[in-house]
Amino acid sequence: MRYNLSDLKTVRAILEKHGFSFSKALGQNFLINPNVCPAMAKEAVESDSDGVLEVGPGIGVLTAELCARAKKVVAVELDRRLLPVLSETLADFDNVEVVNGDVLKLDLHTLLREKFAGCRKVTVCANLPYYITSPVIMKLLEEKLPIESIVVMVQKEAADRLCAEVGSREAGAVTVAVQYYAAARQLFKVGRGSFVPAPKVDSAVIRLDLRQDAVFAPADEAFFFRMVRAAFAQRRKTALNGISAGLSLPKETVAAALGKAELAPDIRAEKLTMEQLCRLSDILFETSKE
Ligand code: SAM
Repeated sequence: MRYNLSDLKTVRAILEKHGFSFSKALGQNFLINPNVCPAMAKEAVESDSDGVLEVGPGIGVLTAELCARAKKVVAVELDRRLLPVLSETLADFDNVEVVNGDVLKLDLHTLLREKFAGCRKVTVCANLPYYITSPVIMKLLEEKLPIESIVVMVQKEAADRLCAEVGSREAGAVTVAVQYYAAARQLFKVGRGSFVPAPKVDSAVIRLDLRQDAVFAPADEAFFFRMVRAAFAQRRKTALNGISAGLSLPKETVAAALGKAELAPDIRAEKLTMEQLCRLSDILFETSKE
């Protein structure tokens, strides 16, 4: 029997049957708005030969929509108590595998290779637990996994930050990292009333299309990211002060690099474009080798 997992009464009955209580610490807010999961699944899965990695299936409301469209769905769930629940709610699907584990600790390269053989491509789709939004997204991007896109629900504020334009007030170090690896955009907003229990904030679904070819190519990637983190570390400081403090470089060295990059000495990190950040990083990297 396929359950209606957007129906609050059904959800309560299943959870009660399994003696389940929500864990705030694990970011457990389950979707009950019937329009959201089909829209996310449609966005994530292009064809029935696609594979989908889901993070945190919860009771399986999004998982079921993904299963109905994809060739194979692998859902990583940390909370063991949800395993018997998922066995029941996803019993109708033979193309789903639930993996019990912490997505931040799993070897995703191996998991993708082993579980998605025969799939045309693999995408990630999830209603992410809020407490690990950035670490999960950064892991998916930095590990250079063979995935094409990421369609995830995050807090609205995080969505604004992740999809901001580099060089705008909303941008932070995480914005630069996201834009480095992917083209990012917000798809739609989801109000707090769409979840049980309702969180205190609204959410939004974002889409990241991973760049298959590098668009930005700093001379040293690790140095570039260290400089970006330093530049954005204290938002009220100038890029000069942030970089000098964060990388333990003399202010004169950073000032000279800013000058060489034709940037004002008092410029803030949020004003810098990707190209300017790359150029500044290249100049500083060369200088620090001398
Ligand atoms: N997908 C479901 C939905 O939309 O209703 C549940 C989403 S809920 C916001 C987040 C889910 O992630 C929960 O099921 C929670 O137990 C799980 N979770 C939390 N931390 C996790 C981790 N480190 N690894 C994998 N799953 C995790």
